[in-house]
Amino acid sequence: MNRHPSSRTRKVCIILAALFTGLLASGRLAGQAPTLTLVKAGHLIDPRTGKALSPAAVLIESGKIKEVGPPERIQPPAGAKTIDLGNATLLPGLIDSHTHLLVDPIGPAEVEWARHYNGAFLPGLLLAIVESPSKRVLMGAQAAREDLESGITTVRNLGHSGIDGDTELRDAINAGRVVGPRILASGRKLITRSDYVQNLNPALADAILEQEFLLIDGTDRARQAVRQNEFQNVDVIKVAADENLTVPELGAVIEEAHRKHLKVAVHAVDKTSIQTSIDAGADSIEHGNEATDAQLKQMHDKGIFFDFTPTSYGDFFTKIFDGTIAMSLKLRPERRGSDERTRQRYNDLAQQLLKGAEFPDASDESRDRVYDSLVQRVMKSGVKFAAGSDMGWFYPGKTRGEASISRFPTLHKAGMPSLDVIRAITTNAAEMLGWQDRIGAVEPGKFADLVAVSGDPLADISELERVRFVMKDGPAVRNELGPR
Ligand SMILES: [Zn+2]
Repeated sequence: MNRHPSSRTRKVCIILAALFTGLLASGRLAGQAPTLTLVKAGHLIDPRTGKALSPAAVLIESGKIKEVGPPERIQPPAGAKTIDLGNATLLPGLIDSHTHLLVDPIGPAEVEWARHYNGAFLPGLLLAIVESPSKRVLMGAQAAREDLESGITTVRNLGHSGIDGDTELRDAINAGRVVGPRILASGRKLITRSDYVQNLNPALADAILEQEFLLIDGTDRARQAVRQNEFQNVDVIKVAADENLTVPELGAVIEEAHRKHLKVAVHAVDKTSIQTSIDAGADSIEHGNEATDAQLKQMHDKGIFFDFTPTSYGDFFTKIFDGTIAMSLKLRPERRGSDERTRQRYNDLAQQLLKGAEFPDASDESRDRVYDSLVQRVMKSGVKFAAGSDMGWFYPGKTRGEASISRFPTLHKAGMPSLDVIRAITTNAAEMLGWQDRIGAVEPGKFADLVAVSGDPLADISELERVRFVMKDGPAVRNELGPR
């Protein structure tokens, strides 16, 4: 007899547990009638068509959407609870398709940057060294709740969660133990042995890395890494591609993951990594900063999603360092000045790229700031796109949800029409996650995940930062608009 249940048995158990929880939530086990809720609002935006239904009513039965239409056509059945949101605008619950709920590092103080350089990683990101996994998952639970309160009803969590922090948080939310969005969890991120993390004590480096990552070193190790994550019941595989990752290695990851019906999201920033991801057949490319037009065309032809992460657009880092002791009094005004100069340089670069210039050998700074051209070229290429906040930062003065949502309107600033911004975090994201049958739109049969804003998000996309009503699975999580 197996000492451990096989992962298939575990999956069946989890599915049964989820069904049981669903039945309990709907009151069916106790023989009660299903819960019926009618949500009424001035408008409902359909991200697919961009059309608004005004006024609109949504009938919800036991956590799922049953009917959508004009209020006069939907008569609330006896016993239905009505939530009237007045003139507000309803949207599908928002999807953050790239986040990191279990990290919130504070940038190191300026004097530490050079003295304790740690590769591409801030020491604070390697929480495995200094935090108990239990403490981290509780911090993650707070971030999850804050995301939900801001209207994010689904997240795809792509790494930096310890061995099983995100899968356990997902299960705790599904079981109703803590409040949070639906989570697609990636477990440990697959990385190559490279400069991703440097200057760890070499005697301990591998042991530390294994708490947070799975190393790809050849095709066998690549397959093994997928199986290790699969044992933790992940929903998706996350790989960080760099110049060390080969097409056969990534191909092995993808083949193994697809065999288990898991999609593969690949972090790829530079041209080489993006090409490796395309050649190996990734499902989505995360960040994609240096994608050329030719690469966008290949992505389009192969049906690979482009996942925008407008995290550091604008003066994001100045803002988050501002509220901490990271910057000296001297650096602070210097950084503000350089934000402005970079903005100018970046605008010039965007103009050149739009005229067909080759991407220059960019510094890290300008890499972060090519969004205008990138956004516009991706839109022109017809490649499928979604967006994620890539939030994994402590943002003084904002909750995790507020910090995450604040990233999406920046896509509009970079030239994406408001409707496409909404699509990037609803319908398109649902398709990228492979969950288009259950989330991303307000349609019969889908989960009752809804948000509402007071104004018109198509006219002012920053309305998304002021979500006044959130519903997940039926019950309202937040309602500042009408009676509960
Ligand atoms: Zn990320």
